[in-house]
Amino acid sequence: MHIIKHFKLVMHHKWLVFKLCIKVGEPWRGFMHDISKFTPTEFIESAKYYVGTHSPITEAKKVQGYSNAWLHHKGRNKHHAEYWVDEAAPEKTPVIPYPYAVEMICDKIAAGMTYLGDKFTKEYELKYWNKERTKIKINEKNAQFITEVLTRVAKDGIDKTLTKKNMKEIYKKYCE
Ligand SMILES: [Zn+2]
Repeated sequence: MHIIKHFKLVMHHKWLVFKLCIKVGEPWRGFMHDISKFTPTEFIESAKYYVGTHSPITEAKKVQGYSNAWLHHKGRNKHHAEYWVDEAAPEKTPVIPYPYAVEMICDKIAAGMTYLGDKFTKEYELKYWNKERTKIKINEKNAQFITEVLTRVAKDGIDKTLTKKNMKEIYKKYCE
């Protein structure tokens, strides 16, 4: 069990998401981000599978075949595309509303920063997303929103791209 290390990692990630969320004008989303990671279902499993270089959820899935923490997490956190998937509904992947779509962007970038540290580059998240996009279910409108934001981050950097004005404009362009 890596209780302290896992706690520090979650807090570090939350801090990075919070700072990015403030930049895009969503401080409350940043403050509340991933709060369910402190519930026993998520915390205990993730402390057990702590590795530091990538998500403990990936580790848990490798060993157990599935992750209880992830099933708990994705059902409660609207910044994850998986929250919005219902295979039994006529609309299987409804459009993710603006605040969560923006929180999702901040989460992706902060996760890259958290696990890569010094090796993180502004191009990294777009590369990661291009692979992820082929595997996950997400509304095409949201996928286009993410692609444009991360393409701009790769080109112009985080500071220039992650502004409230840019997020509103790009979301409006694809998702409204
Ligand atoms: Zn999360």
